[in-house]
Amino acid sequence: MSATATIIENAQKSGRKYLNEIESKQLLREAGVPTTDTRLAKSRDEAMAFAKEIGFPVALKIISPDIVHKSDIGGVKLGLGDGAAVGKAYNEIMAAAKATQQSSKIDGVSVQNMAKPGVEVIVGVSKDRQFGPVLMFGIGGILVELLKDVSFRIVPITRRDAHEMIKEIKSFPLLEGYRGSEPANIKALEDILLKVSELAAKTPQIKEMDLNPIFARRDDAIAVDARIILE
Ligand code: ADP
Ligand code: MG
Repeated sequence: MSATATIIENAQKSGRKYLNEIESKQLLREAGVPTTDTRLAKSRDEAMAFAKEIGFPVALKIISPDIVHKSDIGGVKLGLGDGAAVGKAYNEIMAAAKATQQSSKIDGVSVQNMAKPGVEVIVGVSKDRQFGPVLMFGIGGILVELLKDVSFRIVPITRRDAHEMIKEIKSFPLLEGYRGSEPANIKALEDILLKVSELAAKTPQIKEMDLNPIFARRDDAIAVDARIILE
């Protein structure tokens, strides 16, 4: 059985309708989408050990089935430069998670490398009753909600579709290097759109996908957060 099938089956067996950040990124990497190197730590010591293996600086995030928006509850700590900072961040995340009403179960924290910054974009998949999986591309961060600056295509897409999806959003100049900022690698974004389209087309168990954000950089693009919902 493929790693993808195993991850989906494990989630289904435990009665879950979603994949956490770690599982979602495993599935995406299997499908050829670059993500940060992300591991699940179940204790403070484990978080510190993983951070050392991955290399500083790292990010720590809460992993809980009840917490969807991790930073809203203080569940994301970025740019941790040494073991002591990781230990402190672990304690703070656990305290924040326990303080929210949302949280009944905590699986641990994800430990991952800090990604070099880029323009934040999002790629998503949702299912339409009539058309099946629909792929979305847009600018990430607050702009996505504010401007609804997104493009859509029915899956599967061609490279030409991917190219057009990227070019047709209003914020496209941001990706071309607006006012002296670095231009993003458009080919790398097309690759991600194509891989996500393929994954959605061949995996009927997937109901929704959310890669938010992806950092679009000069040389490449990488997903730093991901969530998959199952049928
Ligand atoms: P959530 O969306 O659940 O609040 P994210 O995992 O998206 O949490 O993290 C919040 C923000 O932190 C991201 O939008 C991104 O700007 C930043 N971030 C998250 N992970 C990384 C990382 N590995 N490297 C650099 N920045 C990150
Ligand atoms: Mg996110």
